[in-house]
Amino acid sequence: MTEQFDLITIGGGSGGLAAAQRAAEYGAKVALIEPAPLGGTCVNVGCVPKKITFNAASLAHALDDARDYGFDLVVKGHDWAGFVAKRSAYVQRLNGIYERNLAKKGIAHIAARARFTGPHTVEAGGRVLSGRHIVVATGGRPSVPQIPGRELGYVSDDFFGLTTRPQRVAIVGSGYIAVEFGGALRALGSEVTLLARHDSVLRHFDEYLQQGLLRALAEDGIRFVGHATPSALARGKDGLELSTADGRSHGPFDAVFWAIGREPCTADLDLTAAGVLTDAQGFVTTDGFQVTNVPHIYAVGDVTGRDALTPVAIAAGRRTADRVFGGMAGRHLDYANIPTVIFSHPPIGTCGLSEAVARERFGAAVKVYTAEFVPLYNGITDHKPKTRMKLVTAGAEGKVLGCHIIGPGADEMLQGFAVAIRMGATKRDFDDTVAIHPTASEELVTMR
Ligand SMILES: Cc1cc2nc3c(=O)[nH]c(=O)nc-3n(C[C@H](O)[C@H](O)[C@H](O)COP(=O)(O)OP(=O)(O)OC[C@H]3O[C@@H](n4cnc5c(N)ncnc54)[C@H](O)[C@@H]3O)c2cc1C
Repeated sequence: MTEQFDLITIGGGSGGLAAAQRAAEYGAKVALIEPAPLGGTCVNVGCVPKKITFNAASLAHALDDARDYGFDLVVKGHDWAGFVAKRSAYVQRLNGIYERNLAKKGIAHIAARARFTGPHTVEAGGRVLSGRHIVVATGGRPSVPQIPGRELGYVSDDFFGLTTRPQRVAIVGSGYIAVEFGGALRALGSEVTLLARHDSVLRHFDEYLQQGLLRALAEDGIRFVGHATPSALARGKDGLELSTADGRSHGPFDAVFWAIGREPCTADLDLTAAGVLTDAQGFVTTDGFQVTNVPHIYAVGDVTGRDALTPVAIAAGRRTADRVFGGMAGRHLDYANIPTVIFSHPPIGTCGLSEAVARERFGAAVKVYTAEFVPLYNGITDHKPKTRMKLVTAGAEGKVLGCHIIGPGADEMLQGFAVAIRMGATKRDFDDTVAIHPTASEELVTMR
């Protein structure tokens, strides 16, 4: 028997949950298909456990600084297993909250994998469902290099299951997951080597931030190895040995993490049965309204290959439901000026265009303001990290096109500045805003 729904969402992560719940609030009959604990990558193996780990690492840094603030502390160590157990319990609590929210909203949760059997029909756990509308929100998974011994390495999902902290760690990659994991493990006591294909980290970010982060990684004792493309991983007599294409050998390590990127989860969906097209990497192609080439099938979140962030998936899911079920014609997500934070140590906040991209687009009309300083907090500590800030502006009116920050508090600082950038603020608006003193963020409104 075919069960009929107004909306089927495939995937119960950030995007799928958001679309399903918003549609149900409008009175739609909704089914959500998700075989794993609800919440997807963000809740189970992404943002949430990652941020809790960042907090643990931040505390480790604060304990170092505490001595300079007069505390006489003896820290006996860090109970990794106890910490992981608490973190997992919190994640499980969230899983339960999501489950109850679906029930409250009358959404049918089918705990199975889905695959298309036609443009309107989906099979999951032996049930056949038909949807007037279908949202694909199956997210992504970590990529693994296709080299001998790859199975000896971990991916980010494995990190959250580790009940002991590996001491000698290699992280292959230079994106945000690589620098976040590296920074957290280092702060909690591991020896960390970061191996990158090129000579920098976060290569899509403003160069000023890249240089600031490379310096911070070195100050923290993280070994950075550039121009390192992995070619094989093997178990040696004292641990894992990683070979790179240039003939070098690295190690021994207790754990090697592949953090080289993510790929879409579309392989088992049988998209062809619905006639849905993907790009060459398997990402589902969508227009500005999240609509695929099939008019009643939408895709949101990481599976689309656009700005892989939880709030992006949520916003795209909700806006699609607002438009399709809430009568809000034209409602869609504008992907310009999406703020993002890297939870490195120290954190990075960035919104808008990097200087390089702005110069490509606006040439000589671009004017840049920078500030580099030791935050007041570190005025009395032995450790003297430098905060860096950059504003990228253009045109006679000095419209702010980009805001880039690395330093303590950057993560909490950025959201408000992102509102200003979205509203089209100019350098003059920044200058006319009275500073909050003494803070680091006041530098952003006092730059000359
Ligand atoms: C380590 C890490 C840290 C991160 N940190 C941050 C952060 O700090 N801030 C931030 O904004 N973002 C962060 N992200 C990114 C964020 O987690 C994703 O952008 C977000 O989860 C995407 O949501 P989604 O709904 O597109 O996919 P997901 O959350 O991945 O959900 C997809 C769901 O679909 C299910 N699924 C897959 N195939 C099928 C199928 N055939 N049938 C049914 N269900 C299926 C999966 O089981 C999964 O639960 C992080 C990611 C990682 C890996």
